[in-house]
Amino acid sequence: MKPIDWQVTAQDGEARTGILRTRRSEIETPVFMPVGTQATVKGIRYEWLETELDARIILGNTYHLWLRPGVDVIRELGGLHKFSTWNRSLLTDSGGFQVFSLTDLRKITEEGVEFRSHIDGTKMFLSPEVSMEIQAALGAEIVMVFDECPPGDAGIEQTRKSLEMTARWATRSKNRFEELQELGMDTGFLSEPSAIVEEFQVSNSKFQVKNNSQPETLNLKPETSLSGHQALFGIIQGAGHLKLRRESLEKTVEIGFDGYAIGGLSVGEEKSVMYEVLEFLAQKMPQDAPKYLMGVGTPEDLVEAVYRGVDMFDCVLPTRNGRTGSAFTSSGKLNIRNAQFAIDSEPLDNECPCSVCRRYSKAYLRHLYLSKEMLASILISHHNLAFFLDTMKKVRDAIKLSKFGEFRREFLSRISNN
Ligand SMILES: [Zn+2]
Repeated sequence: MKPIDWQVTAQDGEARTGILRTRRSEIETPVFMPVGTQATVKGIRYEWLETELDARIILGNTYHLWLRPGVDVIRELGGLHKFSTWNRSLLTDSGGFQVFSLTDLRKITEEGVEFRSHIDGTKMFLSPEVSMEIQAALGAEIVMVFDECPPGDAGIEQTRKSLEMTARWATRSKNRFEELQELGMDTGFLSEPSAIVEEFQVSNSKFQVKNNSQPETLNLKPETSLSGHQALFGIIQGAGHLKLRRESLEKTVEIGFDGYAIGGLSVGEEKSVMYEVLEFLAQKMPQDAPKYLMGVGTPEDLVEAVYRGVDMFDCVLPTRNGRTGSAFTSSGKLNIRNAQFAIDSEPLDNECPCSVCRRYSKAYLRHLYLSKEMLASILISHHNLAFFLDTMKKVRDAIKLSKFGEFRREFLSRISNN
């Protein structure tokens, strides 16, 4: 039995919709996954994510949770689902990306990465094995291999060395991952995952906070039953070098994973490079597994990546921008600090169905922001998440109607007109 199941439901060019079934929820793809770095999606309660926003999967961050509150604490409390009360699907990253960002504090060897905690300077060591052990303790539905992410402008030799090590680390990750599954170290294990796909319905009762004691799924009958274990995704590296991307893809597919991610994009390279890599790579990736573009991006990036065949995304932009007063809308980005909104009684986005747009004006949000009220960040983050999730819903609807090309043209032209 497999840990996850993924089926294509419609295809329009390279763009496709699908249903990803994990042991805890059913997820329509293409999907945007809100980022919950510290076991919280910043500024928004799980109640809203479960009801109005109906997010089916969110991210947890291995590096941050390892340092604080610590793996032992989370394991003692029954894993990340129980600790945080988020009972739908989770995906955890490997921790590598954060550690490699600590350029002055780390040392990379074949064995792993030695670094100093950004919190208290303690010396720590992260390796494929350690990453798998932490991710088993967190107990997410989808776990990522530990990879090395070279800088976006890395030369061909540095990139080749890096992706060769990434392939060796991927094998070590998979070996340790399988041992941990057998040892029963995954805190999120469900002995009867098939039981989750019975009588649950899509939550369409907006604004009503529901009891989240049971996992939720779409009302679809499973085609295969799931193993109840975690799924492991491989990561394709190779920066902007197409030849190396192909090599990394071949090595990763040879090892064999439940899904495949594209790493090392949106790390400082030109946008055109990202689109070129996606166009080249997505078509060559296994078509019967989800394709996940890590850490990307703006609404335009999402639409452009779906156009090239990507199914899964995560990005901190909705909440990060929300905290600085920057809102994403169907006619482009706006900054609420701008004086032009001082007496603007319109919502952030007239077309947005979210509860913030249905109630609050730009003038009021601007006042909250300038008065340094915490509600400003909360409300704008909420709207931004709603906008990203709603955009993905529109993307899926357009693909199902074979009108994605038209949708893409109109969406991009409206966003760039602002
Ligand atoms: Zn809104």
